[in-house]
Amino acid sequence: MNKHQVAETRTSIATERSTVSDLNFELRIIERRTESADCLSLLFARHPEVVYSPGDWMDIRFPTPEFPVGRTYSFASSPTEPDLRITFKRGMTPFKLRLAEAEPSETMLITQYGSNGFLLDPSRPAVFIAGGVGITPFRSMLKSLVDTSSCLPVHLIYQNRRPDFPFRAELDQWVAEHRWLSVHYQTTETMGRLTCAELSRLVRSTAPERKFYVAGPPPMVDAIVAHLVQLETDGESILTDAFTGYEDEPNWYA
Ligand SMILES: Cc1cc2nc3c(=O)[nH]c(=O)nc-3n(C[C@H](O)[C@H](O)[C@H](O)COP(=O)(O)OP(=O)(O)OC[C@H]3O[C@@H](n4cnc5c(N)ncnc54)[C@H](O)[C@@H]3O)c2cc1C
Repeated sequence: MNKHQVAETRTSIATERSTVSDLNFELRIIERRTESADCLSLLFARHPEVVYSPGDWMDIRFPTPEFPVGRTYSFASSPTEPDLRITFKRGMTPFKLRLAEAEPSETMLITQYGSNGFLLDPSRPAVFIAGGVGITPFRSMLKSLVDTSSCLPVHLIYQNRRPDFPFRAELDQWVAEHRWLSVHYQTTETMGRLTCAELSRLVRSTAPERKFYVAGPPPMVDAIVAHLVQLETDGESILTDAFTGYEDEPNWYA
């Protein structure tokens, strides 16, 4: 199964759910939180009309003419939580610089939100593979599994450039409390990026009917999908969530 077939598989799932668009829902920022040296979160008071699933995304912008165009962010929060959260990597565009300075009590606007088909299949054990800030949809999925007392087996393979992995304390706590969850951390600065042989070894003990979910910057997603194809994984067992905007990012996993 090649990469093209993987993309087709994903597209067919994506059509099953629709995007809610043409919105201007106001979201009030309640907290700005530092997750790592490179990543920040904004937590918003939940809007009652935003009904989402783990793995969904939203388009968000500032309500000011200087920033007519927003950005797409995965929900890092779970629908089981009282707040909405986005987590983003610090950047250099005017939008990103402004986002990193956004203060509690400011408002932003959700212009649309929805799914690109990156949804958890509760009928199959899961292998999550995250690159850096690509952890966001997985944080949403895991928090949802924890809060609903699910026992779905999940193995998370999490690559980050430096050892300050966003959400690490929370992930470690969940691993300690739940036998269905295991995590492998790979600090790429010292351990290098995941090779095909390493990936093969890391998933050897997971159930054969597992499904792979890959999220992060597009070059990282492409590299992991190439490994999975080399390991003869069929396309229907791979879902991808490529964070466009980070194509040229030199430090994919930071
Ligand atoms: C479905 C989906 C979900 C997403 N979820 C998330 C998420 O949860 N968290 C997240 O952080 N992002 C997410 N993204 C990506 C997000 O939408 C933005 O594209 C991303 O944050 C880049 O933001 P930016 O364009 O402001 O660029 P920046 O973050 O400012 O920069 C990104 C890179 O672009 C290059 N660049 C930008 N400006 C310049 C310049 N002036 N000179 C040279 N190089 C430059 C650099 O390589 C830089 O590292 C998601 C995207 C999609 C499609």
